[in-house]
Amino acid sequence: MDYSFTAEQEDLRRTVRRFAENELAPLVRDAEETETFPRPLFRRFGALGLNGVRYPEADGGSGFDKVSDCIVREEMSRVCQSFASSWSAHSHLGIWPIWRAGTEGQKADFFRPALAGERIAGFALSEPDGGSDIRALRTKAEKVPGGWRLNGSKLYITNAPIADFLTLAARTHPDLTPAAISLFLVELPNPGIVVNRLKKEGIRASDTGLVHISDAFVPDACLLGGRTGTYPIILDSLSENRVGVAANALGMAQGALEAALEFARTRKVRGKTIGQYQAIAHKLADMAAEIEAARWLVYYGAWRVDQGTLDAATAAKVKLVASECAVRVSEAAIRIHGGAGIMSEYPVGRIHRDALVYVIGEGTSEIQRNLIARGLGL
Ligand SMILES: Cc1cc2nc3c(=O)[nH]c(=O)nc-3n(C[C@H](O)[C@H](O)[C@H](O)COP(=O)(O)OP(=O)(O)OC[C@H]3O[C@@H](n4cnc5c(N)ncnc54)[C@H](O)[C@@H]3O)c2cc1C
Repeated sequence: MDYSFTAEQEDLRRTVRRFAENELAPLVRDAEETETFPRPLFRRFGALGLNGVRYPEADGGSGFDKVSDCIVREEMSRVCQSFASSWSAHSHLGIWPIWRAGTEGQKADFFRPALAGERIAGFALSEPDGGSDIRALRTKAEKVPGGWRLNGSKLYITNAPIADFLTLAARTHPDLTPAAISLFLVELPNPGIVVNRLKKEGIRASDTGLVHISDAFVPDACLLGGRTGTYPIILDSLSENRVGVAANALGMAQGALEAALEFARTRKVRGKTIGQYQAIAHKLADMAAEIEAARWLVYYGAWRVDQGTLDAATAAKVKLVASECAVRVSEAAIRIHGGAGIMSEYPVGRIHRDALVYVIGEGTSEIQRNLIARGLGL
């Protein structure tokens, strides 16, 4: 058993931390206020190799492992979860299925330009009637000459208002079986698609949309892998991404702890810094201990991905523990700040609103518990 990161991974952490503090942090306030992701960042992520962190060099990626991917996520989210969220919807959820199952043509047209940050991706799975229950999805794809005609809607889709294409799940057969669900690479704009931007309380600087699909034509070349029934790829993608999202939650918790520590060291009440009061010191100690536990579970999950042994129940445990930790820690950070915790000038309120997104997005905590219970044979 070896709990140390490699020299290359430590180096990556330093590099991403520097990038996040120097280049992301100055953009946060404006992006939150305008509720818009700074689009040029996608190319900057591309230039730094961050869009390709998860993919082999032979496929145009940066050739890192999942542990490294989680390091990048932790460091980005420590500074701003909105940016990490848009990046992840693009570089992971949106294009991972193409890397895994796309044709050579699809990799050339979608995957590689997305790695460079030239084309922006989103992943459209959730629907008004099918968020937690993926198999209930109703968006239909009917075969027509030369392609497919799509009808339906997709809800809460990250990047949809700014995306150049969506990796979109639709039912290619009337059966209500998983084998009837397939993925399409849907270019935007499309005359049959309207995207409405949604206003949010959390991850405000990440664009989210409601996608209306009405007789949208998608050519045969855009059916992922040139075949129907790609539902198992969605499941694999969600499992792996749950570990990734857990690393994002870890970064948010770490950011909240650091902000609370800084405040506890400087805020004076009755002649003492508040960190000198045991009630506050113990709260910070609990936060640090909980983060440490979550951190090693996240990196264990990443290691399991790298070993090729990640199962759905383990991925669910990792996501459940880290996302709930981020909510608890960021709430405690607000309490430690007193009134200042409610003020926009301090980051902890934003971190808490952002953390709440991740006990819901990518499968709610209840769904993670269902998966864990299933793993227990219940
Ligand atoms: C900011 C944001 C960004 C998102 N980005 C994307 C994206 O890019 N792509 C995408 O496809 N989706 C995205 N989502 C959607 C997200 O994955 C869903 O919101 C999530 O899966 C929950 O689905 P729902 O909102 O329909 O809630 P529901 O499924 O309606 O759940 C409501 C409540 O019921 C509980 N519940 C439901 N079913 C069960 C059950 N079987 N057992 C116990 N409890 C249950 C839930 O836990 C929850 O508490 C995003 C969501 C948000 C908030």
